[in-house]
Amino acid sequence: MITYDDVGGVHIKYLYHCRRQLWLYLRGIRPEHLNAAVQSGEAVHDTSYTRNTPVDLGAAKLDFVDGSHWVHEVKSSSRPSPADEAQGRHYCHRLHRVGIEAKGAVLHYPKTRRTQKFPYTEQAAVQAEADVEAVLAVAEAPASPDRLARSGCRGCSFTDYCWTE
Ligand code: SF4
Repeated sequence: MITYDDVGGVHIKYLYHCRRQLWLYLRGIRPEHLNAAVQSGEAVHDTSYTRNTPVDLGAAKLDFVDGSHWVHEVKSSSRPSPADEAQGRHYCHRLHRVGIEAKGAVLHYPKTRRTQKFPYTEQAAVQAEADVEAVLAVAEAPASPDRLARSGCRGCSFTDYCWTE
């Protein structure tokens, strides 16, 4: 269904947010276009850092890589999250696989004007590898993982699917 090289940033983000969300997404259930939060995120993205050129690695699309080999990602949320960090780490991992020695990820939060920097260390490389394996394990699961506690589902575009009896 999905191979090692197909694992992209969205898969990693969903892995960290909710494995059920990842499982549904992997099966083609994608109601995101109906989700205002996602649309708002795209708007923030479109109006930020417009002079930089995105980098397309196939499954993973990065906002841009600077001349010192730092990956830059523009985030629509106000607060950093483990999912954001994991996505940045994954992009560094993907770049290393194509021979670009990415130094780490710089995450930009235009709403709060915050920036966070995560160097791509040996430990980060091990974790990035483990994250890809975890995505593949979710993909192979025959049944959808359990729901999160309801409070963790706020704003998720799969709410109708998960919570309508
Ligand atoms: S609604 Fe909740 S349980 Fe369902 S995919 Fe979203 S976060 Fe996961």
